[in-house]
Amino acid sequence: MAIYADHAATTAMSEKAMEAVIRCMREDYGNPSSLYRLGQRAKELLEGAREEVASVIHAEPREIVFTSGGSEADNQAIRSAALDGKKHGKTHIISTAFEHHAVLHTLRQLKSEGFEVTLLDVHEDGLVRPEEVEAAIRPDTCLVTVMYANNEIGTIQPIREIGAVCRAHQVLFHTDAVQAAGIQAIDVQAENVDYLSASAHKFYGPKGVGFLYARKGAPLFPLIQGGAQEKGKRAGTENLPGILGMAAALKESAGVRQQESERLKALRDRLIAGLREIPHSALNGDAEKRLPGNVSFCFEGIEGESLLLLLDEKGISASSGSACTSGSLDPSHVLLAIGRVHDVAHGSLRLTLGRDNTPEDVETIIASVKDVVAYLRSFSPVWRDLQNGKTPFIL
Ligand SMILES: *Cc1c(COP(=O)(O)O)cnc(C)c1O
Repeated sequence: MAIYADHAATTAMSEKAMEAVIRCMREDYGNPSSLYRLGQRAKELLEGAREEVASVIHAEPREIVFTSGGSEADNQAIRSAALDGKKHGKTHIISTAFEHHAVLHTLRQLKSEGFEVTLLDVHEDGLVRPEEVEAAIRPDTCLVTVMYANNEIGTIQPIREIGAVCRAHQVLFHTDAVQAAGIQAIDVQAENVDYLSASAHKFYGPKGVGFLYARKGAPLFPLIQGGAQEKGKRAGTENLPGILGMAAALKESAGVRQQESERLKALRDRLIAGLREIPHSALNGDAEKRLPGNVSFCFEGIEGESLLLLLDEKGISASSGSACTSGSLDPSHVLLAIGRVHDVAHGSLRLTLGRDNTPEDVETIIASVKDVVAYLRSFSPVWRDLQNGKTPFIL
């Protein structure tokens, strides 16, 4: 029996999203820029999707730009604020050490272009402190970018408070909300957000499509030059099937959010309680302020990769860090950022539950992880040294 427990990496498309994509491909294949009826019909659908997406996050339709996904939205928001800052002599950007690489690598690139970047520490609970954001703001700060919820440890940041700090100091605020959109109640007005990134495939929509919210008046420059699509902010014929699939998925997610969130929290807390029974283990990040489906653990004396492979043999799809870091031998920058030492960070496991998971899945996962951890420890030299007292336990 297969159990998919990696919803932070991607989700299966919902039936409603799939229907919207297929209907568009079959019937509404016109180019929204064409003037005949087929094109105008496509244009209407495109603008309808923009209204639906905007309403879910309390934005105006004209504040939504459709993109190829979360990475593009992150790049565009950060580059737009940076370019505008540079024009005004402001070249300092504040972010955190545990952002997604779409943010971190964009910032690294901007550093090589002359920007100065302050990466705030994240506390052991996986949370950024608004007062530390405030203390880092300087007269030449043009942007603060802090993720809404972390993709590895699931911790939900105090976005409203950080937004208030940025507003008070008149600094632009971007949040990568790819893990939160469709799962958390987002209100860009109340939360004082200037830019927000989201991606459809994280909320049961299609891959390769997302959106950027940019508050009206916030600087916005295109990354891709060409035609006048998206009011000149993103050239290229619109991915209408993807956009309609995304809008359908977001609407559906918003509709089931409250009840699904309660259901997932119960599954999550049971999973956390079960895995805590494993000796020398620890939950990563705050137990309460985390996404309803996220469970992230470290187990001492094992390798996360071996754990994943053996779980896969038992039919369980999980992750050791983010999908983007798996395949590299470096421990996750997120776990290091919250203060896990290398050896402990190597023994990490991320289980992210979603719409298709059941209470039975959770019991199977608990039993399987217990078995596999005990098996791996039975022949681990690191574990033997810990047992002998040669090296001290950390967890
Ligand atoms: C998945 C993810 C991204 C990248 O989104 P894509 O649509 O895959 O480009 C960015 N940020 C976070 C937090 C993510 O989880």
